[in-house]
Amino acid sequence: ESSSAPNFLRNQIRDEIEREGEVSIVTRFPPEPNGFLHIGHAKSIWVNFGLAEQFGGRCNLRFDDTNPAKEEQAYIDAIQEDIHWLGFEWAGKVRYASDYFDQLYAWAQHLVRQGLAYVDDLSAEEMREYRGTLTEPGRPSPYRERPAEENLYLLERMRLGEFAEGEKALRAKIDMAAPNINLRDPVLYRIRHTSHHQTGDKWKIYPSYDFAHGQSDAIEGITHSICTLEFEDHRPLYDWLLEHLPVPSRPRQIEFARMNVNYTVTSKRKLKLLVDRGIVEGWDDPRMPTLSGMRRRGYTPASLRKFCEMTGVARANGVVDIAMLHHAIRSDLEDNAPRAMCVLKPLKVVLTNLDEAHEEIIEVPGHPARDDMGVRRLPLNREIYIDADDFMEEPPKKFFRLAPGQEVRLRNAYVIRCDEVVKNAAGEIEALHCSVDLATLGANPEGRKVKGVIHWVSARHGVPVEVRNYDNLFTVEAPDKDKEGDFLSHLNSHSLEVVQGIAEPSLAGAASEDRFQFERVGYFCADRREHGVDGKRVFNRTVSLKDGWAK
Ligand code: ATP
Ligand code: MG
Ligand code: MG
Repeated sequence: ESSSAPNFLRNQIRDEIEREGEVSIVTRFPPEPNGFLHIGHAKSIWVNFGLAEQFGGRCNLRFDDTNPAKEEQAYIDAIQEDIHWLGFEWAGKVRYASDYFDQLYAWAQHLVRQGLAYVDDLSAEEMREYRGTLTEPGRPSPYRERPAEENLYLLERMRLGEFAEGEKALRAKIDMAAPNINLRDPVLYRIRHTSHHQTGDKWKIYPSYDFAHGQSDAIEGITHSICTLEFEDHRPLYDWLLEHLPVPSRPRQIEFARMNVNYTVTSKRKLKLLVDRGIVEGWDDPRMPTLSGMRRRGYTPASLRKFCEMTGVARANGVVDIAMLHHAIRSDLEDNAPRAMCVLKPLKVVLTNLDEAHEEIIEVPGHPARDDMGVRRLPLNREIYIDADDFMEEPPKKFFRLAPGQEVRLRNAYVIRCDEVVKNAAGEIEALHCSVDLATLGANPEGRKVKGVIHWVSARHGVPVEVRNYDNLFTVEAPDKDKEGDFLSHLNSHSLEVVQGIAEPSLAGAASEDRFQFERVGYFCADRREHGVDGKRVFNRTVSLKDGWAK
């Protein structure tokens, strides 16, 4: 890779290898199936799968499915599809934290027998109150000293569904005065009378994230349990549980900074709100920072992996400029997307010195630097379309495109001169009459310089296309910086502009997800859902041509 940024995890593993010789690297990517994956998850995927790949280890996919009320099979399916699309493969079968519910329950009983866990009757609200604050120690629950036998019995009844939700909970017995609030008797099991997408109605209690995560890591033999910084304060609890349970291995939790990107939000909860309120079309709306949205927008897996590499892995939180993401896809498409001409605002031009039957095919390269992309065949006829923005009736001084009496080169073809502007009764421009200098195909005009080049499409052979110009979903850099929910007040009302254009005939054969550079316009991708449906051709703007990223 050309541009790599510091990656402390990679360095740390290199150091371990240097110190210890052989080091086994087993990582896992642990999504909760409560939404679609977003660009932040791409980072975590790239980190976990990427390190395993680089150091000859393996990476598991484990659904962190301890909260069945918010989880769905549809999310499980979408997450697997997204990981594969990014170009990664997990080791062996798909795993679920729920695969370990029996073992986790047995370990909960073990803690109870050791006097290290108890059943508490305090309500969630009372627990919060008893827990204390950063400056004040917590107070013990009146149920903290229940004998182990009674705790075992109550835990079993919790499991059988004999209590209502919230009536009881199992808590670890650690230290109500610990400076780290996570150690003030954290909850290990909650009562939930919810059926689970994997275990059905078997369980009426579900383990907390903290109780499930480290133990699942240990069961799977994970060596490096990599997570984001908000779990740093949970690490002492992660370690405490592993120390007090007869687990088969000792994983280590290592935290890195979340990836945040400006002009968007990366929180499944907030993205779900955009979907549920109908603000976007769905999780895969091309404006969404979800992997499926970015895929529809035209991002390539390689560009996202490159973006992860470019942005590095740090221990300090920061915000990445979205221009860097645009840069990553733009440079991929610059090298790999075939070229085409597409006119977004068609203005008819009659080439008056070509006759009605004139039919000429101009062969041009599919890509200026890629012979493997073959040639495109551009038909040229008496009537063509150019973009209305490439003509001005009263041009300013340095306007090098088309204007009355002025010459311009048709890209890949001839120099033309505008002789006449044809208007309708309302005074609107209907067409331009131009003449072709037939001596200028692949040659400079005699005795004068023509600076401007514009794109064009044959009127007879051009194909109608719908073009969707996407822009950022939010108008401000940090839409979710203010109060909860406020991010919705920063929506960009111009995030989608739909235009009907006319494209060169080579685009008639485009398959969905094919990507192109529309010359002079931008990079576009045939829509994954709607392109080709009912004969419609739909192209999404992935990114503009201009690179705004200051390197
Ligand atoms: P969200 O807040 O969007 O729901 P999450 O962390 O709750 O994110 P999980 O499904 O638990 O979502 O995430 C799976 C993994 O991806 C976790 O290890 C998590 O730390 C990591 N992850 C999530 N968001 C980011 C991010 N922005 N940058 C890097 N890693 C992330
Ligand atoms: Mg999570
Ligand atoms: Mg979450």
